[in-house]
Amino acid sequence: MIARSFALLLALFITSMPLGLSAQGADWRTPAEISNYRTTPDYAETVAYLERIAQAAPGQVRIENFGQTGEGRDLKIVIVSKDGVFDPAAVHASRRAILLVQNSIHAGEMDGKDACLSLLRDIVIAKSKAALLDNVVFVFIPVYNIDGHERRSAYNRINQNGPELAGWRGNASNLNLNRDYMKADAPETRAFLKMFHRWLPDFFVDDHVTDGADYQYDVTFTIDATPDVAPATAKWIRDTVTPELERQVNASGHLAFPIYITLNDDSDPAKGLAFNPDEPRFSTGQMILEDRPGMLVELHMLKDYQTRVTGNYEILVALLNVMNRDATKLISLNHGADAAAAKLGTHPFSNERFPLAIDWNGETRPTLFHGCQFTRQLSEVSGAMWIKYNHEPWNITLPLASEGKVTTSTTVPAGYIVPPQWTHVIDVLAAHDIAVRRTAAPWTGKVERYRCGGMQWQGPPFEGRHPASDGEGAGTQPGHYGQCTLMTETVSFPAGSVVVPLNTRLSKVAIQWLEPDAPDSALRWGFFDPIFEQREYGEAYVVEKLARENMAKDPALKAEFEHRIQTDPHFAASPDARLEFFYERSPWYLQNRIGEYPVGRLLTLDGLPLE
Ligand SMILES: [Zn+2]
Repeated sequence: MIARSFALLLALFITSMPLGLSAQGADWRTPAEISNYRTTPDYAETVAYLERIAQAAPGQVRIENFGQTGEGRDLKIVIVSKDGVFDPAAVHASRRAILLVQNSIHAGEMDGKDACLSLLRDIVIAKSKAALLDNVVFVFIPVYNIDGHERRSAYNRINQNGPELAGWRGNASNLNLNRDYMKADAPETRAFLKMFHRWLPDFFVDDHVTDGADYQYDVTFTIDATPDVAPATAKWIRDTVTPELERQVNASGHLAFPIYITLNDDSDPAKGLAFNPDEPRFSTGQMILEDRPGMLVELHMLKDYQTRVTGNYEILVALLNVMNRDATKLISLNHGADAAAAKLGTHPFSNERFPLAIDWNGETRPTLFHGCQFTRQLSEVSGAMWIKYNHEPWNITLPLASEGKVTTSTTVPAGYIVPPQWTHVIDVLAAHDIAVRRTAAPWTGKVERYRCGGMQWQGPPFEGRHPASDGEGAGTQPGHYGQCTLMTETVSFPAGSVVVPLNTRLSKVAIQWLEPDAPDSALRWGFFDPIFEQREYGEAYVVEKLARENMAKDPALKAEFEHRIQTDPHFAASPDARLEFFYERSPWYLQNRIGEYPVGRLLTLDGLPLE
């Protein structure tokens, strides 16, 4: 009790200090600052603070709705612009770079929200950071997963050191929005994609708090730089942005590490740091396909809330500094990448292959790591090794799996043609704002199509589906879920079929969605599952007749059957399998067209009867 009273007195003392007071004497401290970082505001308090700032600085701040969550809450962006230009087209015309920061996609991880409130105040009220708007328009989503954010509890984030109440990782339907970017099941994702394409920001940030190991760093970050996808942007990020952010964050008194830290072995940090491929299900993976630099910011879960919020603040300031200095370069890199994406379909089936999946290239480089000392002992509870960290520094050189390589790739067709009945697949293309055309009449022509077989589906649900993979982590393993092979054939497509030309800045999104071997393709997420179902079948007494007739006509078939009986006891013991053997080797079975992937890869767009 004594300790509690003391804490209360201390809190009262701190709240009476003149932090965040403007020249006019008004109290502009954020709700988190007022609580001395003990708490984070709920959505209503967050929006009230933002509206108060917008009223005080109407010429520089505008709050707009961009959709609704599953539970009907208004999704909001805050636009911060030095001269009151709040229209995206006008901002692009003014040659200023646009930064979009997303907070609380995992709504227990609210550090970025509270950092953005402080930053907004410092830009437009205190004006100590006003210069950050010179060449940049700052747009942020205060809370993305609002429904999860309002599911507040002291028991949502067992790994995390404060604040007192935190939100929930999933949205109202318990989907992890940071696995939903490609399949776009959630209303939040759909609203995000529309807003994103309206603004088309030059740089994107997704703020999180870690799970995982203990170490000294409080700010970790990864900026996706994929040399195989956008080489010029990757070079700028690697040579300029990443080292500059690390330097500035460290200079502010925080400690940054320029990679999101994942251990090769959770129970033994000495085994080094793993590679994290960013598939299109993630916000930052989506950014690779959108050709925009995307930064994952991860504050360390065991640091106190004040350290984390101020660390998040410093990396955003550092990024805004770099963007202000290099705005023209960034805008031109993005234009160049967009133009390259729009040309993907112009030389169909050229030698240049398009990367579908990237994974670790097998090499490591020694990296100085500021970890925490630990002991390991056999646990009588788990039966496995138990790692216990203490807070003493452990500064060591560890192997870092830093480089990726392309593990799956494809040639690029002129475009795709999707039969009109695959409405859910087409609907996701629309959610991504991919421009499509429809055929005005039936069309028959030569296309490439896949035949897929040996499929495996995940048993327990993953993100509300049963994908053809082992779920998380297995996405980049080629051949893990089945095998698809290309065939060139003449196929008829009905009128109303959707033609997807690969001549827009979103060509990469379309390829990832429609190529079955891509880790987050429509096929992998189960959108094409019915093609793997056998619809017609033979009754046993009917197939008996077929079996006898065909064995009489075809001695090789009879020999194959008898060999199977002798060598495969399971087969020999199953009356159904023995009859199915004959059905599967008849023209009746072929009519089921099992595994015939219905999307055509177009050799050319010429001659299509387009609307
Ligand atoms: Zn997270």
